Amino acid sequence: MEKNKIFKKFQSFQKLKISKNSSEKEILERIQKIYQENSNNLNKLFSISHQKILSEVINDLFSDQDKNHFHFSLKENALAEINTMHGTDILKYLIHRYRYEIFPQKKILDKFPPLVQIEPSSICNFRCVFCFETDKNFTNKKNGFMGTMKVDLFKNIIDQIENNVEFVTLASRGEPLVSKEFDEMIKYTSGKFLNLKINTNASLLNEKKCHSILESKIKTLVFSADAADEKLYSELRVNGKLSTTLRNIKMFNSIKEKYYKTSKIITRVSGVKFKSDQKFDDMEKLWGDLVDQVAFVDYNPWENNYEKDPNDIEQSCSDLWRRMFVWWDGKINPCDVDYKSNLKIGNISNLSISKAWNSKVYSMLREKHLSKKRSELTPCRSCVQV
Ligand code: SF4
Repeated sequence: MEKNKIFKKFQSFQKLKISKNSSEKEILERIQKIYQENSNNLNKLFSISHQKILSEVINDLFSDQDKNHFHFSLKENALAEINTMHGTDILKYLIHRYRYEIFPQKKILDKFPPLVQIEPSSICNFRCVFCFETDKNFTNKKNGFMGTMKVDLFKNIIDQIENNVEFVTLASRGEPLVSKEFDEMIKYTSGKFLNLKINTNASLLNEKKCHSILESKIKTLVFSADAADEKLYSELRVNGKLSTTLRNIKMFNSIKEKYYKTSKIITRVSGVKFKSDQKFDDMEKLWGDLVDQVAFVDYNPWENNYEKDPNDIEQSCSDLWRRMFVWWDGKINPCDVDYKSNLKIGNISNLSISKAWNSKVYSMLREKHLSKKRSELTPCRSCVQV
């Protein structure tokens, strides 16, 4: 059995540089003030279970006592998100940030997953060297994995999670902007979620899509790019061109500057740290003035998990308590490392998000992980994520 480096999903940022963040002290003061102003009103604002979470949050943020293993704190990216919010939205955000960060550690479940990841398209126009899109069995159209989501299905998912889930990501296995109905989809999300994120390689951005994104008031737009020179970029992002990515991000910025001056959108260039010649200093120099945040995330070697030998990891995978994926064809899956759906939970056509999250299939997967038997599941047996 080979020994593997563990991929910690809850600490996947290897480097993160944020321009213009408020200090933690300032943000904490704002939180304290809003909490105090609303302390007599909490039962009108939140359910009993969410009031309990909020009191844990406040205790962890402001009390010196009880700094236990599951202590909730605000990382830099969370501070940046809070910085764009006002009033009781901040309290609501904290409740859902706690669900996202602490529930997977304490193995707590409630009716909905902390984050739902929706896949507008499994098709990608790139073939990045570290991605499962290089698996020809996956991308071969005859095998049924490739497609784009119908807008009615998308709306059905949004209707189920609105007011229940605040952390939503539009992207999974493919490039979301491949979907011809992308504009209509994000328009439908407008104003419904506190923390909606889109991941894109930026190659298919055009003026119309920039307007749709900015009008929809999404929280974070992540541009995936891993290098600061054309040669290294196109070596990693096969089929991509750095000059196109740069041009499109500049176009996005000029549209934002001209028509959406008050936009609170957070932009980030995020790269997968795959090779030693990718330097974060170079990334910062190129991208630092174009986006609000520059990041490197750890490489999760997921592109050939079905063929790899089993590893000796026994720790349970936090994603089973954190995220649920709904793919373009309605399949519900617990993660995207399992990009061919061996671990499929069901299909949204006959299983609601809430029922799926507490279904027997999900419970069986969680139980296997908790009892140190992830080796009985493919691809968990060779996956390094915890
Ligand atoms: S394959 Fe298993 S261990 Fe890996 S991310 Fe998915 S659920 Fe977690």
